[in-house]
Formats: sequence, structure tokens, C-alpha cells
Amino acid sequence: MTEKVGAVVVGAGVVGLACARALALRGIETIVLEAHDAIGLETSSRNSEVIHAGLYYPPGSLKARLCVEGNRRLYEFCAAHRVAHRRCGKLIVATAPEQEEKLAALKSQSLRNGVADLQPLSAAEARALEPQLRARAALLSPSTGIVDSHGLMLALLGEAEAHGAALALMSPLVRAEARGDGFLLEVGGAEPMRLVCGLLINSAGLHAAKVAAAIGGLDACHLPALRYARGNYFSLAGRAPFSRLVYPLPEPGGLGVHLTLDLGGQARFGPDVEWIGAIDYTIDPRRGDAFYAEVRKYWPGLPDGALAPAYAGIRPKLSGPGEPAADFLVQSPAAHGVAGLVNLFGIESPGLTACLALAEHVCRELGL
Ligand SMILES: Cc1cc2nc3c(=O)[nH]c(=O)nc-3n(C[C@H](O)[C@H](O)[C@H](O)COP(=O)(O)OP(=O)(O)OC[C@H]3O[C@@H](n4cnc5c(N)ncnc54)[C@H](O)[C@@H]3O)c2cc1C
Repeated sequence: MTEKVGAVVVGAGVVGLACARALALRGIETIVLEAHDAIGLETSSRNSEVIHAGLYYPPGSLKARLCVEGNRRLYEFCAAHRVAHRRCGKLIVATAPEQEEKLAALKSQSLRNGVADLQPLSAAEARALEPQLRARAALLSPSTGIVDSHGLMLALLGEAEAHGAALALMSPLVRAEARGDGFLLEVGGAEPMRLVCGLLINSAGLHAAKVAAAIGGLDACHLPALRYARGNYFSLAGRAPFSRLVYPLPEPGGLGVHLTLDLGGQARFGPDVEWIGAIDYTIDPRRGDAFYAEVRKYWPGLPDGALAPAYAGIRPKLSGPGEPAADFLVQSPAAHGVAGLVNLFGIESPGLTACLALAEHVCRELGL
């Protein structure tokens, strides 16, 4: 027999789980299909776990709007659901004279994004906060923080399930057919099944273009070319002498090799930007050599031999090397003409911060 549900979400990363929760809270019977045997094994567990404030993105873009809204929603959600997090703040540093202007431009862009709490600091003021820091000037972002991303995903899933949603692990979506009033889905895995649903949310992260290509009825002109940019992290042996996150100014393709802390106070540096042709999380230890030079620009005291390869994450990119950064692409029925379908493409940073706001946006696009 073919089971019928209100909505199917493809992908149990942080964004898919937030979408499932939002749909379930609206009383829609929802199933989350996940190809792996556990939630959040891809990009959602391979990132900096930073709750961004919304400084970096062009005013009016989805990234800017959903990051600022997502920041507020995420702190509220974490407090209400006891998800471990810390509003530790971050310093964005200028380490060369020509960067001071860029710092000022970042501050005015942030204001246009609705982030009004950035505080400019002189070199001495920055050093008073973080004595090991070397900077010509800095911006303090008090609303930046860190979150336990796995705890967040468990809490999202828990609330979705409490409102009737179900998670199907080892259940890859193989093919879908739009039928006008909904979708017929073929699900693979150990126990293949067929499902009928009214709404289909493609939140498959690095695989979202492949999933979209398997949806019969969606015109191929709506399939973007996704590119992959690996971000490698190196961990620091011993405790970091910093209590806030430290970011250089952004670089093409990423936010620069920054210092981020986990909730236990352990420091790691990354992610760099390495364009790759296929999904592969192997770290070349030699990339660490460049990290020493980058990090010592703002922390000259980084000891030799202190960095070790940690892990890597892969950004699903809608723009290639040398091209301007692309926005999130939330492709709704108004864009592709298939009723009930939303494709989420290019959900790189700040997707973790924005997950709850992205889910609300998806619901709005579906008229829910
Ligand atoms: C290096 C790096 C650093 C980052 N740092 C930050 C940060 O500090 N702060 C921040 O806000 N954001 C950050 N991000 C972005 C953030 O991690 C992502 O935006 C977010 O995790 C994306 O979640 P997702 O659910 O869209 O994708 P994913 O977590 O990739 O989930 C997609 C899921 O879909 C499943 N799937 C795929 N195909 C199928 C199929 N056919 N059937 C069923 N399931 C399928 C996959 O198995 C996977 O579980 C960073 C990203 C990277 C790469």
C-alpha cells in the first residue's frame, strides 16, 4: 500500500529538521527522509557552530535577512529547549592599514542589515579584552555566539516528532513525480517504499541539485550547477588564550581562517577555501602550513607545531572561484511552476544560524 502524508522533507540536516518542525507545528503530517543512518552527518556537523550576527551579507539578500532573524530565533529556541549555547561575542580584526577602511565598511553594511550593536575598538581596547591579540583596530560583535549543533538538531527533531512528524533513516529519495495535486515518491534503502505527499521540500544540502534532477515534472532549466568548496579545520593543542571568537576580514569564498571555540573552550582554526570536484572530506595536512601565517597575523603567539588536522566541511556553492558570492536560493512554486515543491540550493553559511528563519520562509513561500 502507498502511504499518504501531508509533507515530505528530503534531508535531516539542521535546515530539513527545522522545516519539518515548522510544518508539524502547523498541523501538517510530515515525514523526513534521510539517506544516512543518523541525522546531521553531513554539513550540519562539519561547520564552525557559530551563531552569526548578520554582518557579511549584502543588505536585502536572503542571507542578510534570514541570518538576522535566525540569530534572534535561534537564541530564543536554544533558551526554551535547553540547547547548549553561549553568547560569547566575537572580534573582527584589521591587521594591516588598508583593512581599517574595510572594517568601517563592514560596520555600515551591518547597520543596513539591522545589526546595530557592533562596537568599534582601538588596538588598545581590543588588547584589553584579549591580551594575546594583535590588531590595528577591531569590531566587537556582542550578538555572535556558539551553539551545540547536534543538540540543536535533536531538539528540532524532538519538537517535530512531538507534533506528529516522523523520521525515516536510511531512506534516500530515489525519484519523485509531480502529479498536479502532489507527488509520488520512490524511496530506496533497505526497505524501499512508495509515498504520496502534497508538499515536497528538497533540503538535501550538497545533493540538492541531484535530488531536484530526480523530480519528474520540474523543468531542467531550474537545476543550478552546484560547486563544492571544502573548508578545512585545524585544532589547537592546549587551551586557547582567548574567550571570544576572532575573525579576520572575509576572503573570497569564505569568512577567513578564524578562531572559533567549542562550548568546552577548545579552539580550532578554519575553514580555508579549497575548491574540489567531488565530495571528499580528507584533509591534506600540508594545508596547515598556510594556517600558521594566517593566524599569526592576529595571534603572533601561536606556537610552532600547535595545529593538527581536525575535520573538514563542504560548502554547496552556487558561484564558482572568482565570481561574486551567491545568495541562498529558495526556489518556490512561483519560480518553477510545480505546486507544493520548494528546493533549497546553496545553503552554505549562515545556514545553521538561519535554519529557523529559513523554515518560516519556506512555509511562507508555500502559503502556510
Ligand atoms: C565549513 C563550513 C562552515 C560553516 N560554518 C557555519 C557557521 O559557523 N554558522 C552558520 O550559521 N553556518 C555555517 N555553515 C553553514 C551550515 O553548516 C549549513 O548551512 C547547514 O548545516 C546546512 O544544513 P542543511 O540541512 O541544508 O544540509 P546538510 O546538513 O548537508 O543536510 C542535508 C541532508 O540531506 C541528506 N540527503 C541528501 N540526499 C538525500 C536523498 N536523496 N534522500 C534523503 N536524504 C538525502 C544528507 O544525507 C544530509 O543529511 C558552515 C558550512 C560549512 C561547509
